[in-house]
Amino acid sequence: MRERKILLSEKDIPRRWYNAMADLPNPPAPPLHPGTKQPIGPDDLAPLFPMPLIEQEVSAQRWIDIPEEVLDVLSLWRPTPLYRAYNLEKALGTPAKIFYKYEGTSPSGSHKTNTSVAQVYYNKITGTKRIATETGAGQWGSALSFACNHFGLDCTIYMVKVSYDQKPYRRIMMETWGGKVFASPSRETNAGRQALTQDPNNSGSLGLAISEAVEDAATHGDTKYSLGSVLNHVLLHQTIIGQETKKQLEMVGEKADVLIGSCGGGSNLGGLILPFLPDKLGGQKIRMVAVEPAACPTLTRGTFAYDFGDTAGLTPLVQMYTLGSSFMPAGIHAGGLRYHGDSPLISRMAKDKLLEAVAYRQVEVFDAAALFARTEGIIPAPESAHAVKGAIDEAKRCAAEKKKETIVFNLSGHGHFDLAAYEAYLGKKLVDYALPEDVLAKSISAIPKV
Ligand SMILES: *Cc1c(COP(=O)(O)O)cnc(C)c1O
Repeated sequence: MRERKILLSEKDIPRRWYNAMADLPNPPAPPLHPGTKQPIGPDDLAPLFPMPLIEQEVSAQRWIDIPEEVLDVLSLWRPTPLYRAYNLEKALGTPAKIFYKYEGTSPSGSHKTNTSVAQVYYNKITGTKRIATETGAGQWGSALSFACNHFGLDCTIYMVKVSYDQKPYRRIMMETWGGKVFASPSRETNAGRQALTQDPNNSGSLGLAISEAVEDAATHGDTKYSLGSVLNHVLLHQTIIGQETKKQLEMVGEKADVLIGSCGGGSNLGGLILPFLPDKLGGQKIRMVAVEPAACPTLTRGTFAYDFGDTAGLTPLVQMYTLGSSFMPAGIHAGGLRYHGDSPLISRMAKDKLLEAVAYRQVEVFDAAALFARTEGIIPAPESAHAVKGAIDEAKRCAAEKKKETIVFNLSGHGHFDLAAYEAYLGKKLVDYALPEDVLAKSISAIPKV
């Protein structure tokens, strides 16, 4: 029998997070205060985040120990399997080897639980009673709700309206773990009420939901804010993915030629690729590829600039690839990829050509997802399907060039709560959104001058 699953044992769960800030040739520029436009200090972030997370956010220490209490929860589903996609390889007739790291085995069904557990833990030990957050497709909200329930904190979730309507089961999942969910824009915050006054039919965006959650946290003493992607500490917590993958590849005597991840804010991609960064900087030939939707093409068509993380301009300005914080992405099913910006760390890597990016349209992404489901069995989350499409195209290139490369991608989550999207796909009702140049130019021209 061929070895299909490369499994680690519980004692192989990484004990430390890898901090790429220690090794990046050009570390990202510091975040700026939204008012003064001066670099912010730890105290500026204190109303929103607990101090241990702020320390991780600005840390340049290469390895950071994972607390025992966090490891204890992670061991519910970690280590996660690395699969060899024999059936997909055969269907594609490729000489390439395709591996995928499957993060859909977590309780909430995606990689996001890796950071939610750590974030809630640090909030718990510093006295936070409630956490407010936003969620796009609902994966982050469910990951946070799961972790808040475990550590006994209350959880308030502003869920982007288009997803709230499309994905009732995600909301029910969050509520089962005790989370309180509002469709965003909501009437709970000034940012939400203002958006609804301007457009009562506003279908929401991640940027707007962030404004609501940040406002909620900043105006309540016992409440902190939590972000499921983008920030350095979030990518840090995700590096257990790449550390495990490295070990699993070693077990079968493989070296990755190409590493691929879907990219919304950059956390599942960063989690996979960052632990390989020292190898790449040390001269090993590893390509790193970010896959994004053509409807929200941050790395492929955005501008590298300081911009707000949210729509209302409440967050610090961070240097990143951005489509402009006023950008309203089309209502594609990969809700977790509808973000105007990107992680500063991932953006810096793209700027310095350590990372490549490609963008795909929705229908071709679902074609790839369906092929994957029919060959490998797992139904991917629409976000993860972007990485599947990226891997398939790399494997086809290998077939054309007769190259036996090793392709590794992050299957960041399952699509069991995204079946309405699959129904639309199967019924040929899925629409391709291309982003018109004039729409993009308008939101980019609104990026603040710093
Ligand atoms: C949220 C999400 C993403 C996109 O977010 P990143 O921070 O870029 O990883 C991708 N896949 C799944 C399954 C998600 O839930």
